[in-house]
Amino acid sequence: MKILVINCGSSSLKYQLIDMVDEEVLAKGLCERIGIEGSRIKHTPANKETIIKETPMKNHTVAVQLVLDALTNSEHGVIKSMDEIMAVGHRVVHGGESFSSSVIIDNNVKQAIESCIDLAPLHNPANLIGINACEELMPNTPMVAVFDTAFHQTMPKKAYLYAIPYEMYKKHKVRKYGFHGTSHKYVAYRTAEILGKPIEDLKIVVCHLGNGASICAVQNGKSIDTSMGFTPLEGLVMGTRSGDIDPAVISFLSEKEHLSTQEVMDVLNKKSGILGLSQISSDFRDIENAIDQGNSDAQTAMDVFEYRVAKYIGAYAASMNGVDAVVFTAGLGENNGIVRKNICSYLQYLGLQVDDEKNDCRGIERDFSMEGSKVRCLVVPTNQELMIARETKTLLKK
Ligand code: ADP
Repeated sequence: MKILVINCGSSSLKYQLIDMVDEEVLAKGLCERIGIEGSRIKHTPANKETIIKETPMKNHTVAVQLVLDALTNSEHGVIKSMDEIMAVGHRVVHGGESFSSSVIIDNNVKQAIESCIDLAPLHNPANLIGINACEELMPNTPMVAVFDTAFHQTMPKKAYLYAIPYEMYKKHKVRKYGFHGTSHKYVAYRTAEILGKPIEDLKIVVCHLGNGASICAVQNGKSIDTSMGFTPLEGLVMGTRSGDIDPAVISFLSEKEHLSTQEVMDVLNKKSGILGLSQISSDFRDIENAIDQGNSDAQTAMDVFEYRVAKYIGAYAASMNGVDAVVFTAGLGENNGIVRKNICSYLQYLGLQVDDEKNDCRGIERDFSMEGSKVRCLVVPTNQELMIARETKTLLKK
């Protein structure tokens, strides 16, 4: 059974074709600059060289057609015909309160995704465009929507409600939703497998530390709290996002800097975080290099980042009344042992002890806690595409 996974942005489209018999990635790729000058497709078949082709893509339907052409091409294709694609799994960012799990897409589902556009104005429209483009070209292939927010729909009211007038929650659905759910779920379940314990018996804190970053408390296999909120702005310090901030800062900065509310929000989303504090870059590798060269602003940015992560882990240990494993994933979490160690050093009181030698690893699954550490610490590379393909397969079987 082969499943195509699609992650559609406003001008980009990422894809993977996965053979679900052995969960092997047959090909993956990316269409960039859809609808703008200079569009191109980058296609990588397994065990073959990457092909880059510059070609006009006036819309996402053209992009999906190019993906299908690449997958079935006689030289660099991996399947004979698109009939081999049993289903398409679409990443959808926001499912609001309507979706607590993945679903087979029909017109009602599309309407519900549309009704969440207010909550994710940049992402959901692009996700819908991707779905429509695939439906147009593959009208008989089942499509599944896998939501970033769905895994967090198990959060209890005390975790997801903001202490604002209740009628505003009811009227506008202003509450914590959380994101990165597909990643948190994949990593938590994989952690249970690695530890050889049923997920129902575990209290896990998953730290998804990439350019966007969030933490999730997973108890008995369910998300009970997470750091991103109504939007991805809440929580950790990120590449360009401030994370948690006193909301009063918004009107204060608006007045002092003569900025509209929207402009202040742009500052908090795009010019803050690691970029804002370091004044160097939003990329953690640049920050690491600057720290090596003795740049104190870069060091401060990293200190603030690590401190915030540690604070959230402590908070979630309290939420779950204990923690069995702290798990690191995504670009920074998988690759930067120094950051992992610095964060873990705040948590010795929980009984978490790092083995420095084991922690010296990049991008691989590894339990890097010391023998006898009360809390296990692990690196588990995330795989959102595989999770989307698995969810798609499960729904098809039903
Ligand atoms: P996103 O998917 O949110 O764009 P990623 O999970 O790709 O983010 O993570 C991007 C971040 O991870 C970047 O800031 C980058 O510096 C960091 N990162 C990626 N690879 C490495 C690496 N090999 N060593 C250190 N940091 C890395």
